[in-house]
Amino acid sequence: MSEDKVKVLVVDDIEANLFAMQQVLKPIDGIEIITASNGRDALDILNEQEIALVFLDVQMPEMNGYEVASKIQELENYNCDVPIILVTAINTEEEFISNGYQSGAIDYISKPVNNDILIKKTKAFVKLFENKKKLEQANKQLQILSNKNESILTFAGEGILVISKDGAIMLSNPASQKLLEVEESEIIGMSICDIITTDETKKYGWNDSVLYKCANNNNTYHIDNTEFRKINGQRFPVDYTFSPIKDDPDTAGMIIFRDISIRKHAEEQLIKLARYDSLTGLANRSVFKDSLVRSMARAARQKQMVGVMFLDLDHFKEVNDKHGHTIGDQLLISVANRLQKCIRTNDMAARLGGDEFAIILDLISSSDNAAHIAQKIIDTVGGQHELDGISVYISPSIGITIYPGESETPEDILKSADSAMYRAKEVGRNNYQFYDRKMYEKARERAHLENELKIATMRNDFELYYQPQISSKTGQICGLEALLRWPHYDFGMVSPAVFIPAAESTGLITTIGEWVLRTVCQQTHEWVEKGITGLDLTVALNVSTRQLRDGTFAKMVEEVIKTSHLEPNQVEIEITESTIMDDPETAIAELQKVHDLGVKIAMDDFGTGFSSLSYLNMLPIDTIKIDQSFTKDIGEDPKDEAIVKAIIGLAHTLGLKVIAEGVEEEYHVNFLRENGCDILQGYFYSRPVAVDIITELLTENDSDHNNTVPKS
Ligand code: C2E
Ligand code: MG
Ligand code: MG
Repeated sequence: MSEDKVKVLVVDDIEANLFAMQQVLKPIDGIEIITASNGRDALDILNEQEIALVFLDVQMPEMNGYEVASKIQELENYNCDVPIILVTAINTEEEFISNGYQSGAIDYISKPVNNDILIKKTKAFVKLFENKKKLEQANKQLQILSNKNESILTFAGEGILVISKDGAIMLSNPASQKLLEVEESEIIGMSICDIITTDETKKYGWNDSVLYKCANNNNTYHIDNTEFRKINGQRFPVDYTFSPIKDDPDTAGMIIFRDISIRKHAEEQLIKLARYDSLTGLANRSVFKDSLVRSMARAARQKQMVGVMFLDLDHFKEVNDKHGHTIGDQLLISVANRLQKCIRTNDMAARLGGDEFAIILDLISSSDNAAHIAQKIIDTVGGQHELDGISVYISPSIGITIYPGESETPEDILKSADSAMYRAKEVGRNNYQFYDRKMYEKARERAHLENELKIATMRNDFELYYQPQISSKTGQICGLEALLRWPHYDFGMVSPAVFIPAAESTGLITTIGEWVLRTVCQQTHEWVEKGITGLDLTVALNVSTRQLRDGTFAKMVEEVIKTSHLEPNQVEIEITESTIMDDPETAIAELQKVHDLGVKIAMDDFGTGFSSLSYLNMLPIDTIKIDQSFTKDIGEDPKDEAIVKAIIGLAHTLGLKVIAEGVEEEYHVNFLRENGCDILQGYFYSRPVAVDIITELLTENDSDHNNTVPKS
């Protein structure tokens, strides 16, 4: 029989009575009839199963009905108060009834049993039992719920405050007491207006507060970032939600709040990171731009000007390379500190990245003010910086733009200041320059050129031309100089004088330079293989300072020469004096390695740079190339003629070969020959020409050793 049926116990010592009762009760829905033929069995059953109703025969041997009824009441389980109906043939006299009720019975029924009454009574008690069960269940759930609520209140991390209709705190959980640093006894009855710090609440009181309105209109209220006041007056950041409680006439609602100090701190850190340079603490580019927009608007309103400076440290990379990044970083911090000392409170210094800084001079009356501050910055930021016991010298180059002027937008203003800074670098660094229109056009062209150059480098869109070098003794080609050409669909044939500086400043020269070396070596090897030239032909190529900087140049040269099966002394590397002067130590070390491979080294454009004899002595040089500006003046300027003679003499004293560049006239040839110049190079013999033409010239050169090279 199924478990959820209501059990009715019938106790009678006469089998026939039990049977008869069963027959009568059986048709009632939802009940299970259990029988017992004596008091002991009945108690056993009641000990084990929950019974809804007991029909108990009074007259039974051993233990009569009254005794059983008393014992039932002593049970220690749910059956102790089970309704008992006594069944008896005994009459209903006073004594019987009294006995029956004393023993715990609540009703009686007399034999012979009236079926109708039996059924009705049973149904009524079963219904009662079912209701009791339901009530019990409901109670149980209520208890669970209340326990749960209590633990939510007690253990919740959020502060919970229940607010009365007049704004007093009626209930406060332990978390709220902890957050507000208050005892429960103190907080109960306190006005919520003493805790909420929004000014209106404090000023106008509860009845004018937003919470009061929300409570009345049954609206929830949430605020993400406000402050609560602790009992000691100290404020702390919170977010809170107020929920009205509508069912209780005494209660306005409940506030759930959290301390958001940690979140706010994290947010502030993030904002700081997003707005300020983490190394120097200066504003970053985005803050700088916002600030510039505001300064520009202010200047327009007040009919004043804004000065914008772009500052770059000269040779900062060398500080990093020489002393390491830690010192480099310290230098940037030191520069930032000094920079801030040069500007007013309303001005702004920002770090745009690397060693680039920008400054807004807010509301100046003339460009002279900007010039004055720029000079102050050069004097203050420039000079000696003591960093961790190391003394580092640095100088800044500054570009200045004034608004209103030619640039209208913050981006253009910054770009203009940047171009002016370039100009400052060009005219020798450690100075400031104002922006002008021509400078802007130049900067734009430069940007365009650099972009095109990038594409050309990726695609190897270059060509090499070769210019012969003629032995002044034999009149034969004894060498070639490889000169780079960039045929561009739009610009035409771009001169290396134009694009080499751009390749150097962008760093593309490293890739281009390697391509030049590989192509020269392959080409030379091909000529040797084909017997067009012998192993005595030298091919010179030009190398920029930038290629010598990272310390990988010599290795690359070694690998290329090896793979192209050339004799190292067939290759000559041309460098200029200024190249070396930029960073003599690194350049000399790298050139020494290249020279050790057997590769020859020539000093190009000699006489135009510092022409420092001491360097000449330190460098592993084989050849000096007299710059064409001197050659050009032969026959015209006796002073330059004297210089040419002196250079030849000096070179020979040092055991070096001399090449004269820019040989255009026959009298140049004669003068140079007479004065012992070893090799001649110039338009008089040939312009730089493409590979097929130089191959022809080399072929003729080889087949007719006695002829000079024809003029082109
Ligand atoms: P440079 O190394 O001094 O090259 C000599 C320049 O003088 C070449 O100009 C050449 O065409 C020119 N020239 C030769 N003979 C005469 C003459 O009789 N009269 C006149 N007026 N000029 C003559 P180019 O080819 O325009 O090269 C200019 C500069 O570009 C070169 O000067 C060199 O510094 C650089 N360059 C060329 N190719 C490369 C390269 O592959 N790598 C690097 N880093 N620089 C290169
Ligand atoms: Mg050269
Ligand atoms: Mg030259």
